[in-house]
Amino acid sequence: MRISRLLLIPFILAGCAGTAAAGYAPDFDRYVDIELAIEAAASAGGLLPGPGRPERAGQVWVSLERGDVTALDGALFKRAPVAQNKHLAIYEFETEDLDQLSDGMYRTFARAPGFFAHDTLEAALEDLKAPPPLPARAYTLDQAARVKELAALPREENIAEGIRALAAFKNRGYRYATGVDASKWLQREWAKLAENRPYVSVAPFKHAAFPQESVILTVLGAAEPEKVVVLGGHLDSVAGYGDNAAPGADDNASGAAVTQEIARALLAGGYRPAKTIKFIAFAAEEAGLRGSGEIAAAFKKEGVRVEGMLNLDMTNYKGSERDIYFVSDNSSPEQNAFLGRLIETYLPYTWGTLKCGYGCSDHASWTKNGYPASYSFESTFEQHNPFIHKATDTLDKCGGNAAHALKFARLGVAYAVELAK
Ligand SMILES: [Zn+2]
Repeated sequence: MRISRLLLIPFILAGCAGTAAAGYAPDFDRYVDIELAIEAAASAGGLLPGPGRPERAGQVWVSLERGDVTALDGALFKRAPVAQNKHLAIYEFETEDLDQLSDGMYRTFARAPGFFAHDTLEAALEDLKAPPPLPARAYTLDQAARVKELAALPREENIAEGIRALAAFKNRGYRYATGVDASKWLQREWAKLAENRPYVSVAPFKHAAFPQESVILTVLGAAEPEKVVVLGGHLDSVAGYGDNAAPGADDNASGAAVTQEIARALLAGGYRPAKTIKFIAFAAEEAGLRGSGEIAAAFKKEGVRVEGMLNLDMTNYKGSERDIYFVSDNSSPEQNAFLGRLIETYLPYTWGTLKCGYGCSDHASWTKNGYPASYSFESTFEQHNPFIHKATDTLDKCGGNAAHALKFARLGVAYAVELAK
């Protein structure tokens, strides 16, 4: 039921609280009518030509935590927020300034990106709403024989080879030619996995606002194809800002290569899931989770039934005592517990938990859209690879092999078999 508009607390609107021509003052902590909020923002700030449409190329809207804004360089924020709730604020940005924001977030908080970027204000305003509650579901472990057989198939050398190949691109920046080339290369590699398998297909997911494509490999479920399990990690890389050398071997060639190896191992083992599995290499994570944000929102809009999502972002640097760490914020506690049980039941590894904050990686896009998502990480937050987001993020910093990443590939296989059954 709609709350009376007259009773709502005015919010900040381009610095002009209470001047919305439409007379609409959304309370983002309680109820928001997105269409009216956009009209109100347009008439108050004069920012927008029409509902949800970018005014010009390069215009983006960013959501981030208000507490972070105060700690960042104020020069990054040229305008007042368009809208906010108690915790988050929406700013209009220029695409070319996103790299600087991402770099500032990483240097200030050691997290990246730590914000969402959107093509439209309409999409950005969605971030101010509470995520829908997750439906309750049972997680069972009853595929021991199949898991043991298939989880033995991932090979460390395949992952290392994938990391080397991805890290050989000058960078995999989402706006740069080599970032486009890296996506195309991955599409060709993944297409080889689909050869002679009619139930496997590979397709790019094209993004309207930037040239790098996300890559999706689909293994169609044999019994309940409408239900979908998602595994993946981002394919882009960044080092500071600009068209710099950014090998991104750990962040995140390691996650993309692990994703590929999970798919290869399952298919090589002759496995055909009951539910559909989608392996995704996300574009433009470093610029505000743009690839995963668009894909998860599109899935939600189309009513895709995602049973679970596992994010693989930084898997190859063993910085801590335990092997695999699960992010406990902006993720599904039930699915995280399920992943812990998978390790305890099937794998000779140890696990722990950590927190990584708002918008810290692609799992957050799925959580935000009401899907159970988890994020498996290489170390504690404090002990992660210190070479990332620099030209020095190379495989030799991880011992020149993929021994740590292999653990994530084996976990991914167990996750897929027990969830997509
Ligand atoms: Zn990353």
